[in-house]
Amino acid sequence: MRLKLQITGLVQGVGFRPFVFRVAEELGLNGYVLNDTSGVLIEVEGDRHKLDKFLLRIDREKPGLSKFYSLQHSYLEEACYKIFEIRESKDQGNKRAPILPDIAVCDECFNDITAPKNRRFIYPFTNCTNCGPRFTIINSLPYDRRNTSMKDFQMCPECEREFNLVSDRRFHAQPNACHACGPWISLHNSEGDLICEREDALEKAVNLIRRGNILAVKGLGGYHLVCDATDSKAVDKLRERKQREEKPMAVMFPDLNYIRREAIISGPEERAINSIEKPVVIVKKNKGSLLAGSVSPNNSTVGVFLPYTPLHHLMLRKLKKPVVATSANITDEPIVKDEKDAFARLSQIADYILTHNREIVRRCDDSVVRIAADRQTPVRRSRGFVPAPVIIPFKFNRPVLALGPDMNNTIALGLDNRIFLSQHIGDLDTPLAIEFYEETISDFLRLFDVKPEVVVADMHPGYYSTKYGERHYRDRLVKVQHHFAHILSCMIENEVPEDTEVIGFSFDGTGYGSDNTIWGSEVMTASYSGFKRAYHLMPYKLPGGDKAVKEPVRTAFSLLYEILGDEAGASDHLPLTEEEISFFTTMIKNNINSPVTTSMGRLFDGVASIIGLRHKVSYHAQAAIELEQLALMSEETGSYAFSLGDGIIDQRPIIEMILNDLKADVPKEIIARKFHNTIVKMIIFTAEILKNKTGISHVALSGGVFQNSILLENVFYKLKERGFTPVIHQLVPANDGGISLGQAVFSRFL
Ligand code: ZN
Ligand code: ZN
Ligand code: FE
Repeated sequence: MRLKLQITGLVQGVGFRPFVFRVAEELGLNGYVLNDTSGVLIEVEGDRHKLDKFLLRIDREKPGLSKFYSLQHSYLEEACYKIFEIRESKDQGNKRAPILPDIAVCDECFNDITAPKNRRFIYPFTNCTNCGPRFTIINSLPYDRRNTSMKDFQMCPECEREFNLVSDRRFHAQPNACHACGPWISLHNSEGDLICEREDALEKAVNLIRRGNILAVKGLGGYHLVCDATDSKAVDKLRERKQREEKPMAVMFPDLNYIRREAIISGPEERAINSIEKPVVIVKKNKGSLLAGSVSPNNSTVGVFLPYTPLHHLMLRKLKKPVVATSANITDEPIVKDEKDAFARLSQIADYILTHNREIVRRCDDSVVRIAADRQTPVRRSRGFVPAPVIIPFKFNRPVLALGPDMNNTIALGLDNRIFLSQHIGDLDTPLAIEFYEETISDFLRLFDVKPEVVVADMHPGYYSTKYGERHYRDRLVKVQHHFAHILSCMIENEVPEDTEVIGFSFDGTGYGSDNTIWGSEVMTASYSGFKRAYHLMPYKLPGGDKAVKEPVRTAFSLLYEILGDEAGASDHLPLTEEEISFFTTMIKNNINSPVTTSMGRLFDGVASIIGLRHKVSYHAQAAIELEQLALMSEETGSYAFSLGDGIIDQRPIIEMILNDLKADVPKEIIARKFHNTIVKMIIFTAEILKNKTGISHVALSGGVFQNSILLENVFYKLKERGFTPVIHQLVPANDGGISLGQAVFSRFL
């Protein structure tokens, strides 16, 4: 008999065909295996019991990186195959074969590049079917060398032999390469002049880093700016040139032992650092850390990660020191990926440029995660994770494109039972970011060969993403409320069943509300098909609108004004001049450029300013992050009062009691902790009320505010203790990076 198998899932570029070949050979079955555009197609023929055995082994023994989404099989008449062979890929049909994310160097390839006798000793582009670039080198499907940026490198006879040898680890490893035939690195000065190439370039680059220089280094999904992380002068210089005042920068370490010396890491954190995705993991700095303070100033944490390409490994092994490795860009622009761009945009920042001649087809920043409640929660889902889909428990009956929000943007495609989120695109507020945004939309539509029949955007009329939808897809555009999209994203990644309602807490900095005001503290009851706002903070004003985001002192003034009125200025809590006080007062009183908000994120900002911690910020959510870190220094269990009535959570008693504590000289870390405890109490309290009223016991926690680990952990465990079923983010970020997932889901339940 003949057995026909059609498998979809992560089955291309993971050594799947040679694995099938081996199993078929071992069982003495003839037939073929090939990659097609939706996955892998196999036919084998022989005795029925051998075919059954084959089927079992294909599922049980499949390669570590592979994953099935579906496996269909049928028994047919014999076709009389003479041999078993690996056939040419088929290009026809729907392009649904998932593209694999880029995969960090595997142990065996690491051994190759560090063994002096190996022919790949110190070769920076070593890879095999278990590791190497994928997403960032693919032009189109199927995943064959001719469709990648390796197409210009002709394999040497030795590499060719490995590529064609079924028993070899590099059998059909599409980016297979070596010193003799593959890409190479080169070192240039900031003018772009070539200094040296290959091994010399590596040697020289390491010496330059050691001597305090800043290097732009081409990696997998873009350039990093790199300098010695223990050299304060170098790190300060990098900050100054990059115009990045205080936002923490990630540090890449030679190995795990080194990280253990510089940071305090838990078991789950260590697993995250070592995982195949090799994300940046936010961990606590060690007291005696040798890292320059300016790596993450005013911050008790630091983002750490391990080398994930052979080039990074070779560099750090030689240097024997950690390096700052931050996305190469200017402030909030997209990461630089091309040589042309590197020489034009980075020459002001980098002293030297270490580049290579394998083209990066698409940008992909490093991913960032942190551990909270013993779970890995993404802060930025990008390299290593994208474009693996989120699998959902139902099917889209028409292809969906979700346009994301304007901050921390990602886009998403919903197809069948999968949602593909794009890599991190970022804030859509520079021309380059917008270009990257539009490129990514076309890129995804082309890669997956899809014409969207529904397109989803945020409700915010001022968002570029919304306008983009109106311009290009007016006839099929639907809009979804921002905070509902947050809750939907959290529900779907936790596979909350279709008939289940949840109590949703959607707390963030900014989102456009259904009543045309700025929301951000939504307590709602929700199902996939809709939501009802149950509670939110008492509305307050943001004098100066967006300016208040950068200057928490404005929010602080407004919060004080709510309770003290014209006396707000007289209180000496805020470092404001007479002019500023009268200016803000006039704005608030006369409704001049002072939008009303119910933002929870801004409340955190305001409190940080009222207690004198942070009045102006130099990066997003800085005040709230510092407030959390201050609170972590205290074990206080007390809290403040808030009052609840008619859908409104009145925060004024909180502010009043904070002022009393300040007057009584209560230490600031205690105030910060009491404030956190208050918000936890507020969440539990409102959840209980809603549960009593509606019987709903599922609780979804989403929105950027839930990146606060005190909040997330306390709320999560307390809800569990009280018999709720809380769900939190583990696949996509709680921040706006996860919005596109919720948007895509929204379209399914219209
Ligand atoms: Zn490998
Ligand atoms: Zn070669
Ligand atoms: Fe948001």
